[in-house]
Amino acid sequence: MDLIDLIVVETVNVCPFCGGALELVENNRYVWFGCRRCMRYVKRDKREVVKRYVDYRKKRFNWSGMMAELYQIYVAFFSLC
Ligand SMILES: [Zn+2]
Repeated sequence: MDLIDLIVVETVNVCPFCGGALELVENNRYVWFGCRRCMRYVKRDKREVVKRYVDYRKKRFNWSGMMAELYQIYVAFFSLC
């Protein structure tokens, strides 16, 4: 991944494994959601994720819906490890 283009946002979600704040990292192609302390992230194609949460008719983006999905993916994925 190209570090220059990365945007890092701290989220309100807390890592269930260490209690640290989860963060959203994105560039123009991908989003990563995960924990810096655990160094565990799930990666998704940004356009694929975002388009499911954009209501083009109302011109609204359902940020909390997207966060909830990424959080569930993160917990489900790393609970199996
Ligand atoms: Zn953690």
